[in-house]
Amino acid sequence: MTNGETQQAVQMFNVDIATEDGPLRGILAAPLRPMRLMEIVATAAPLASEITDRAMAREKARGRTISCRDGCGACCRQWVPLSIPEVFWIRELVDDLPGARRAAMRRRFEKISAALRRRSGFVNRLLEPEPTAESTFPQAREYFALQLACPFLDRESCSIHEHRPMACRECNVTSPAGRCGHPYKTPVDHVALPFSLTVALGRMASALTGQPPRLVPLALAIEWAREHNELGRRTWPGPQLVQAFIQAF
Ligand code: SF4
Ligand code: SF4
Repeated sequence: MTNGETQQAVQMFNVDIATEDGPLRGILAAPLRPMRLMEIVATAAPLASEITDRAMAREKARGRTISCRDGCGACCRQWVPLSIPEVFWIRELVDDLPGARRAAMRRRFEKISAALRRRSGFVNRLLEPEPTAESTFPQAREYFALQLACPFLDRESCSIHEHRPMACRECNVTSPAGRCGHPYKTPVDHVALPFSLTVALGRMASALTGQPPRLVPLALAIEWAREHNELGRRTWPGPQLVQAFIQAF
């Protein structure tokens, strides 16, 4: 899948992955300097968008309509699972906000965290390692029932659209938007993807750290990142990190 070729201060990796929506081909440049986990997110985000764009084009070609629109935020009350690199990415995004906005955003995170912690054992269940779609289903349903809007949701629109997590990029539906307000009563038809960048980033972090895969709810990202500062600062040689990412596909 990959062939390393050293050029000045970067190493290039060819990517060629067969998917049901056509081959995914390109070149990823890995800096030779040490890299932190969060730095791979800038590489993963356009890939996630490319994969979802192709999947949506496939659905449209089959005569289906994509219901997702700006200002349509029922899904932003769902549990948003972040891979570990994204946790540190989101923390930095908040740290980089202008002063008053940053303080207000941190208060939003704290308010949601407090609401989750009022439910006995809920946070521990949300953070259980080795999550699967089946194992997280009860937590996802319980989370949605609380109707806690994502801290980044402003007037039902995403205030970090360009920087939104992989899970948000990967969530698109062809069923009527109204169904997203009660997805556990009426089924929602998601646009199926050949693979998930959330999962790939999670696998990559697991392979590099030797820890079991783990997903962290977006609303708990800031406090989880604070509790794992050392991991956020840890570095790997850039080519090792990028290769682990490619292999995680
Ligand atoms: S997933 Fe549902 S609520 Fe979210 S943008 Fe799409 S249609 Fe709207
Ligand atoms: S990050 Fe944006 S798209 Fe994702 S849940 Fe929050 S407001 Fe919605």
